[in-house]
Amino acid sequence: MNTLLRVSDLRVRYGHSVALSGVDAQVGDGELVAVAGANGAGKSTLVNAVAGWSRGRATVSGSIELGGREVVSLPAHRRCKLGVVLVPEGKSVFEQLTVDENFRMVRPPRHATGKRYEIDDVYEVFPQLRERAHARCATLSGGERQMVAIGRALRAAPRLLILDEPSVGLAPRLVVEVLQHIRALVEGGLSVLLVEQNVKAALEVADRMYLLEQGRVVGSGSAAEMRDDDRIVSAYLGRL
Ligand code: ATP
Repeated sequence: MNTLLRVSDLRVRYGHSVALSGVDAQVGDGELVAVAGANGAGKSTLVNAVAGWSRGRATVSGSIELGGREVVSLPAHRRCKLGVVLVPEGKSVFEQLTVDENFRMVRPPRHATGKRYEIDDVYEVFPQLRERAHARCATLSGGERQMVAIGRALRAAPRLLILDEPSVGLAPRLVVEVLQHIRALVEGGLSVLLVEQNVKAALEVADRMYLLEQGRVVGSGSAAEMRDDDRIVSAYLGRL
């Protein structure tokens, strides 16, 4: 499998406080890689750094390569054109606009290298949104709103789709539904980096997982390996 994203020795500081201290991680073409870890472990810091969205007084060093090209010093909009598209945690839809209007606002870059999704393609991915095409997003369920957020990201023609806690606040049934949609996108060839608090559900859909603790990768492996990892079992899955 070709490596699409290669993060090497990534370090992020906010002022004097170290949030990531030397993270190595990869995502292959057509792979779904999850990132797990406790609150404050550095998951959002990691995905924001990959997308070029580091906030506040963040200082980023190390290497972030996309398809062999160094992107660590590129601004977010340039990385987006190269296909690195982040759906941040929380609100990322325009609630006062309809589903359709939300999708129409995003156009793929002219020289997009990722797969282009026309609006109709997005409705193929999320058929239930077609029925709500003219509903204002404020009237949608949390799960539907999350699907709109992902649909907007697809419109930007991602090569690497990054999702920061897409299931936050969703009922368990909807968590599974949203994650299954994400898996289906990966089956279609997309590469995904997924931050997910619900580790059990993430392991159902991910190919591999990284476990972060205090800004370091303390474990990584295939979903099957991570399901047996003692730290994952004791912190997230519970002993049988
Ligand atoms: P959560 O699950 O709570 O979202 P996380 O694993 O995503 O946690 P981060 O949000 O990446 O963790 O935070 C990592 C560390 O960096 C934490 O100690 C946090 O307080 C700190 N941090 C995050 N963003 C900033 C910022 N803009 N300015 C200063 N410190 C920050």
